[in-house]
Amino acid sequence: MRVGFVGWRGMVGSVLLQRMQEERDFDHVDPVFFSTSRAGGAGPPIGTADVPLRDANDPKAFAGLDAIVTCQGGDWTHAMHPALRAAGWSGHWIDAASALRMNDDAVIILDPLNRGVIDEARARGAKDWIGGNCTVSLMMMAFAGLLERDLVEWMTCMTYQAASGAGAQNMRELLAQMGEAHLAAKALLESPGASILDIDREVAGILRDERFPTEHFGVPLAGSLIPWIDKDLGNGMSREEWKGSAELNKILGRGVVPPEHAARASPQGGPRPPGAAKPPIPVESICVRIGAMRCHSQAVTIKLTEDLPQAEIESLIAGANEWVRLVPNTRDASIRHLTPAAVTGKLEIAVGRVRKLALGPGYVGAFTVGDQLLWGAAEPLRRMLRILVGR
Ligand code: NAP
Repeated sequence: MRVGFVGWRGMVGSVLLQRMQEERDFDHVDPVFFSTSRAGGAGPPIGTADVPLRDANDPKAFAGLDAIVTCQGGDWTHAMHPALRAAGWSGHWIDAASALRMNDDAVIILDPLNRGVIDEARARGAKDWIGGNCTVSLMMMAFAGLLERDLVEWMTCMTYQAASGAGAQNMRELLAQMGEAHLAAKALLESPGASILDIDREVAGILRDERFPTEHFGVPLAGSLIPWIDKDLGNGMSREEWKGSAELNKILGRGVVPPEHAARASPQGGPRPPGAAKPPIPVESICVRIGAMRCHSQAVTIKLTEDLPQAEIESLIAGANEWVRLVPNTRDASIRHLTPAAVTGKLEIAVGRVRKLALGPGYVGAFTVGDQLLWGAAEPLRRMLRILVGR
């Protein structure tokens, strides 16, 4: 397969190339590298390294490719996908951006959970394969054992999302904010006798200072949090929160839940979208940005369709796939192994704090942490390419 790579220089793209090299994916494809800003420049040292980068803004430059893998972003997808399709290019389009996710003929790819949906779509001639929202993909990987057996009646996801989900510049800004907060209190911190309330006053002062670096987040994240992610849908819900329900159900082949239905989701289930074999699973969220670097965490409440014993719930969660790692529900294991610091840079999805809740039969609480650049972004893309390659 001749495969064009666009956006490989960015944060998701770099992680994708790294993973593809680790898994020797380039042994099975003939890569062609593109850039929107450095056409003619040098590509990564992969394949025929001295071939100059092609111009990603020139539709003709994609002629003859069997597939395009893009981590460039939604603007580029919006511009180039229709242009290439209109020009008759009929290859596979694998995309990290959300631009095409909800199109009828696009499949959200998360093959450990929806290989059947992917294979059915391939048989129908589908060509657009889109990575899911990072938070949704990580949550679904974590609770695949319950979702696959149709044991989830409804769930809530209270998220603690990392700075990386907002982009590389936001990660830099988080660190700059941490540095400023430390600087404001540095002199007092060095004095063991300084009052903690004086230290706190200095930090609160700098967080509210108009010179505090907030160009990208708009407000302080270090020493604080941001309880809204993505656009305001105008119904009390953020777009990120809507994705929890809409994408989970699309991934599972339960149809698309429009924002107005997601807002009204009830424990009895929402209306069944046309063509879906099963009704959508209601998923409600409050999505919050916190000062972690690249791991998203989520506290979930799950209402099971059956009141299963604790041991069976744990074994179903742990046995779902090779990436889930069940963390014992103890203080020591949780604070050591169920944190962004422990999970960052790893493919594993940590799941812990699993406990039957006193709310009634079938209620389960749990906490999960996953690296949003791996299973949350790059991994589903590279695996989709391997599915298409057939090896
Ligand atoms: P990004 O880091 O901003 O990179 C996108 C492109 O920006 C690069 O490929 C590169 O393209 C260009 N660029 C300009 N200056 C650069 C620099 N100094 N270093 C590297 N690249 C530079 O974007 P991203 O965060 O990877 O996101 C890409 C897409 O994936 C977006 O649609 C995003 O929504 C989606 N996504 C992101 C995440 C996430 O966690 N960030 C998760 C899931 C999905 P040229 O070579 O063409 O200039």
